Amino acid sequence: MRKKDQSVERQARADAPPATPGIIEVAPDIFQFRGEKPSSHVYVIRGQAKNVLIDTGVAAGFSDIKRHLSELGLRVKDINLVVLTHEHFDHIGAAAFFHPTAVVAAHRLAANKVELQDEFVTFHKYRDELSKPFWVDIWMEDGSIVDLGNHTLYTLHTPGHTSGCMCLYEPEEGLLFTGDTMFAGGTLSEISVGGNVSDYMNSVQRLSHLKVRKICPGHGRISDTPEEDLPKAIGYAQSLLGDCKMFFEAFIKTRQLQDKIGSAFGFWKETQKPW
Ligand SMILES: [Zn+2]
Repeated sequence: MRKKDQSVERQARADAPPATPGIIEVAPDIFQFRGEKPSSHVYVIRGQAKNVLIDTGVAAGFSDIKRHLSELGLRVKDINLVVLTHEHFDHIGAAAFFHPTAVVAAHRLAANKVELQDEFVTFHKYRDELSKPFWVDIWMEDGSIVDLGNHTLYTLHTPGHTSGCMCLYEPEEGLLFTGDTMFAGGTLSEISVGGNVSDYMNSVQRLSHLKVRKICPGHGRISDTPEEDLPKAIGYAQSLLGDCKMFFEAFIKTRQLQDKIGSAFGFWKETQKPW
């Protein structure tokens, strides 16, 4: 098929209502299962010989995933690889249900926390969500490649939201699976436990060098305007850094003022008295 015909076909597909509620065909053999709050979206890639799931959503959403898979003619055991974008409960909750037959992969900094069931980071119990333990078979690094024959996924370690965040880039279709690193409109996620603003800044700057046609995030809508969204994300990260500086400058000034007033009126002296 010629390139122009392909793009017309793609546009027609994008304009058409979803054939099955809850499932969006993002590109040939690539589907999004819409996640309802608090669950993340789940993406399925039908490879030439093996099938991949990107994120699993929460444990309670497993029956929906099973139903959606069967609507695509797949069973749970037909999923050969589950790739987790990071260590949060809403992305990894149903991974244990796939583990008996699929290989599970995550960035090594996420894998460590998942295997140790680090509740301070995964938030399962804090959010009162079921957590079924599993281990991560493949501890991925930046640059790891998943070759499915018809699609190739390139792994980018993108710390910021958490330390173990990664994005998956499919260059043929120009798809960027961002998990919680970035959402449509250039919105960034919160800085969660283990994350930080400076790493976030580097991560979105790195993503901006890729040729992206669609941003496929873990929550919210798919974006087909990455050329607008990525610069916005960088701007947002920059402003966050600036805001942090302002906040601490104001905090220090307030503390100095408190000390000055306190000592002038003898507020603090009482506590320093030896009797
Ligand atoms: Zn998250």
